[in-house]
Amino acid sequence: MQGAGKSVSDHEFERAMGYANSALGLLKKSGIPPYPQFYELLYTYATGVNPSLNNRINAIFSSGHAPTTNLAETLYEEFLKSDVNDRMSNVSERMHVRIQAVHSAIDTAMTTANSYSGSLQSAQGDLERPIAPQDLKLLAARLLAETRRMQDTNRALEQKLEASREDISALQRDLDDVRRESMLDPLTKIANRKSFDDGMRDAIAEARQTNNPLCLVLVDIDHFKTFNDTFGHQTGDQVLRLVAMTLKSNTKGRDIAARYGGEEFAAVLPSTDLKGATIVAENVRQAIHAKELLKRSTNEKLGRITASFGVAIFNADDSATSLIERADRCLYAAKHAGRNRVVTEDTLAEVTERTRAGVSAA
Ligand code: GH3
Ligand code: MG
Ligand code: MG
Repeated sequence: MQGAGKSVSDHEFERAMGYANSALGLLKKSGIPPYPQFYELLYTYATGVNPSLNNRINAIFSSGHAPTTNLAETLYEEFLKSDVNDRMSNVSERMHVRIQAVHSAIDTAMTTANSYSGSLQSAQGDLERPIAPQDLKLLAARLLAETRRMQDTNRALEQKLEASREDISALQRDLDDVRRESMLDPLTKIANRKSFDDGMRDAIAEARQTNNPLCLVLVDIDHFKTFNDTFGHQTGDQVLRLVAMTLKSNTKGRDIAARYGGEEFAAVLPSTDLKGATIVAENVRQAIHAKELLKRSTNEKLGRITASFGVAIFNADDSATSLIERADRCLYAAKHAGRNRVVTEDTLAEVTERTRAGVSAA
């Protein structure tokens, strides 16, 4: 799917183009075929959004080994294809292996320490009796050998603990990455429902405390079922990515752009009044409508999609649920009034009345 004409801002276009060129350049340089999954891998690398992926690829480049198609496949599976649960269990498996290794190193060290202490005790017994000089020499040699063995074991334990420490820091970083990713929707890479819920809760608490305005925008793609039925689910998924990117690029700072459900999105806008939120919604609406959709594989024209918007502003006695309900009511009115429009709490009564009059006049 591509936008044509004035679909995205010049800045956004330039930026995406920069990533695309960089991804293609790397594929070319490494002799990796520009199949969609490998393009996605290196495009993601170019954006830098996934630091652990970038660390891995940087390590490969700096090792002097040319990345192979096989390696690209593995990285794709690991970083882009696998879901958070897979990665979580991978991290916990590695954590388990590391803990086992530390346990066994400690066991070995304890066994050696016990046997050393046994040797010392028996030497003490020997020394309490009169002892011939040659026996004393033998005893000293034995104790020296035992001490060396003890030193060796301690050194090995130290090395193992040091390696574990590094590994555990790497695991900690991986765990942080997984935690961050668990807040993202895997398809569109914007905030998922869980981060929306968390973000709404925090934004409401803050609005209560500061008395700053807080708005919620709900977005629902128009006739998306028909679009899917006509062009297929995969093309539909590209549209979801496009809408997500448009919403994301029209919000900023502490705003949250989230995938709320299947083809529904939401924007939480702290410190924004109804007027400001309406402008954001209107900008997103126009940007979506302006995009002429092209099928990636064939450049076939797919027409345009539109979306409807409902905008509500937080009241002192609102809960997340009541605020969502009001935004949803506005969204519902936008659908009934003919879709591809923004309805706010301010305009809800008027739009509903006009729709009702229009319907009964028909
Ligand atoms: P309306 O204008 O009234 O919103 O019509 P609609 O067809 O968009 O509404 P409806 O709720 O009937 O259909 C939503 C459709 O969204 C159903 C499904 O085909 C599509 N959809 C939901 N989640 C996904 C997804 O993850 N990928 C794709 N490709 N389609 C999805
Ligand atoms: Mg819907
Ligand atoms: Mg819909």
